[in-house]
Amino acid sequence: MRYLILSDIHSNWEALEAVLAEARGGYDAAVCCGDLVGYAADPNRVVEWSLRNLAAVVRGNHDKACAGLEDLEWFNPVARSAALWTERALSVENLSYLRELPQGPIRVGDFQILHGSPLDEDEYLLSARAASELAEYLEAGVSFFGHTHIQGAFLLEGRDVEWIKKPDPEARQVQIEIEEGPRYLINPGSVGQPRDNDPRAAYAVYTPEDRRVELRRVSYPIEVAQAKILRAGLPAALADRLDWGS
Ligand code: ZN
Repeated sequence: MRYLILSDIHSNWEALEAVLAEARGGYDAAVCCGDLVGYAADPNRVVEWSLRNLAAVVRGNHDKACAGLEDLEWFNPVARSAALWTERALSVENLSYLRELPQGPIRVGDFQILHGSPLDEDEYLLSARAASELAEYLEAGVSFFGHTHIQGAFLLEGRDVEWIKKPDPEARQVQIEIEEGPRYLINPGSVGQPRDNDPRAAYAVYTPEDRRVELRRVSYPIEVAQAKILRAGLPAALADRLDWGS
């Protein structure tokens, strides 16, 4: 089996389409670490693709917010207005799909998927130090997470952590060989709103048989997604930030 690992799509259809076009034929099942919706202008299209095509998915904080399951007072004003717009835009069927999404971590094959951290789906896992405290809570050698929109991997050996970085701006991928022993916490990056100073859509492909994960980046027509965001009346800041990937 080869797995397409997605996270934080955030209603950005153009970014998802570019990922799927590039990965086509190179995977057998697709999974997502949460945040299908929120921010960009195509929530129904992204949810419809997800319910037909994802073999497994966990909910993200924006999925909860847009489905009315989360108190919006914790969201900043831009995220809050996008959540309210998304909830109004979603069809009844798509809203009920979002409401039913399971909380992570969940097991898929020999790995796990989760949104924030194995202990708290809403926690931002941003530092090697924070990751170093989680090894004992990981129930699989390889776990994929999202939420931070920062592509990369933590290799945990006891309390030692190695931080494996995303591809350089001129490279399309970084390859990680999975060793026996350490635990891996891997963020495939955000498909629809990268925040690691690279505007390209991020994703990963995991091949358990070859013990290999590829962290990949692909360009997409950002200006099309931006025009849709502005046309929908969503905050302009959500269009602008796609240019910078931050
Ligand atoms: Zn997100």
